[in-house]
Amino acid sequence: MLRTHTCGELNMQNVGQKVTLCGWIQRVRTMGAMIFIDLRDRYGITQLTIRRFLNRDEFNEVNSLGREFVISATGIVAERSSKNPNIPTGDIEIIIESLASLEILNESKIPPFTIEDNTDGGEELRMKYRYLDLRRNVVRKNLELRHRMAILTRNYMNEQGFIEIETPVLIKSTPEGARDFVVPSRMNPGQFYALPQSPQTFKQLLMVAGFDRYFQIVKCFRDEDLRADRQPEFSQIDCEMSFVTQDDILATFEGLAKYLFMQEKGFAPGEFPRIEYDAAMREYGSDKPDIRFGMKLVELNETMKGNGFKVFDDAELVVGINAAGCAEYSRKQLDELTEWVKRPQVGASGLVYIRYGTDGTLKSSVDKFYSPDELKTIAGKFSAIPGDLMLIMAGKTEKTRTALGTLRLEMGKRLGLMDLTIFKPLWVVNFPLLEWDEASKRFYAKHHPFTSPVPQDIPLLETNPGAVRANAYDLVINGVEIGGGSIRIHNRDLQKKMFQVLGFTDELAQEQFGFLMNAFEYGAPPHGGIAFGFDRWCTIFGGGESIRDFMAFPKNNSGRDVMIDTPARISDEQLKELNIKLVNGEL
Ligand code: ASP
Repeated sequence: MLRTHTCGELNMQNVGQKVTLCGWIQRVRTMGAMIFIDLRDRYGITQLTIRRFLNRDEFNEVNSLGREFVISATGIVAERSSKNPNIPTGDIEIIIESLASLEILNESKIPPFTIEDNTDGGEELRMKYRYLDLRRNVVRKNLELRHRMAILTRNYMNEQGFIEIETPVLIKSTPEGARDFVVPSRMNPGQFYALPQSPQTFKQLLMVAGFDRYFQIVKCFRDEDLRADRQPEFSQIDCEMSFVTQDDILATFEGLAKYLFMQEKGFAPGEFPRIEYDAAMREYGSDKPDIRFGMKLVELNETMKGNGFKVFDDAELVVGINAAGCAEYSRKQLDELTEWVKRPQVGASGLVYIRYGTDGTLKSSVDKFYSPDELKTIAGKFSAIPGDLMLIMAGKTEKTRTALGTLRLEMGKRLGLMDLTIFKPLWVVNFPLLEWDEASKRFYAKHHPFTSPVPQDIPLLETNPGAVRANAYDLVINGVEIGGGSIRIHNRDLQKKMFQVLGFTDELAQEQFGFLMNAFEYGAPPHGGIAFGFDRWCTIFGGGESIRDFMAFPKNNSGRDVMIDTPARISDEQLKELNIKLVNGEL
């Protein structure tokens, strides 16, 4: 080794030892004739001190060592006179005795941004020089967390008898789910592989094969529009089990979640509550409720309709939330909030408020239609007390619930109720099996076409498919969907029925999923599974906002890797080999 120790491990116990460290220069400082160099590697920072011996030229030479130069330094560990309690190596320094003890291993250009926790580099610049960004503590720590989470996951899964099996990356495009990334096949002109959106069908085939408990930390690919919590390639902890019920799966993976919490954070949340999808929508206006705070939706049809206020009388649903302690909101703040909910991202048509003044008087934006007594009854529905502000919306049921759910989150944020140190997991269960799409006039699988219906709802597949509940579940933590899965269909006839409901002809179902349906004729065990967004797990545990910060080399918002500059054109030669024809330079 070129070094005897790392820059993060020396302390008072090493005083007197001769050591050699290697690393990057964080900064060089002078004090009179003394020079201090902060030497950094991924383990920490150690101070090198050069005291006596330098003549002017040598002094200048050392003083001009640039930031990010890679050096090796040999010297004696000594106690520092002015200690730095903020770093583990702050009690000591390395005394360099001769110029020959400092060796430049490599020079560095001046980095385009400072390698500090609070860097001056903007997002794009840091993405372009990601390898420099990765030298920063904050980013490096995120990847260290990610590594620990992967190891812990593997430990737990291994202990529970799961085996990790790799599934292929070059697979077949399927019409359900998100858009596929495709790869042309040179050897099969005109034909394409698709990159997996998930190993779903393979893990089910592994159950048919009798593997019983499978998992994999696996890259998945989805060609979707990007957001802070989406990347075109991301990692899942993908799992499948045989001979299990929904309860067994929830218990097993509640175990995984608790194990990760315990090992990484030193505490674990208690029982994870379970809530039906319908109740989640009704009470929180979201299928991934943040239950760090209450502020549940209060339905007001019986209380507020029929008073001549047309907007409410015509609405399918009148519903509100109680923003505790917000009665003092000014007119300007309320107008701003009203504008906020009208933005297309929220989609409400308006906002009605009732102020419960600290003097006990109730004042609303629709006073004309409600007497003080009626306002009192309404406030009672909210369990409001003086000082509270009730915010009410009306319209189509689903849309209004969702819009109010969004406002609930916003108010939670404004009121400081989203404490990053608190973790509130819950299971949302029994999602709808199908989703109607008005444009194509057909049902789509809400989860995927292999999800089984709740058994007692199976007859509804014939009569009222929209009402069928899926035997499916999501794990949600602090309003983020961390994972989801389902008990699968393992019966060929039911799977065939499902494809029919989804509008697949027998031929198309055979062409797309024949391999799975055929496999089901050879003794498919009852099975089910789940997949967790591994990047999201890490982001939640690391208290971050974007999954990007927990990936080594993420893509930007347009799906580009600006460092390696891709996607990129390929040569005409390559295109020809792939049998892809360009017309006037275009595909
Ligand atoms: N394959 C599913 C997904 O990626 C998860 C599952 O059902 O296990 O969402």
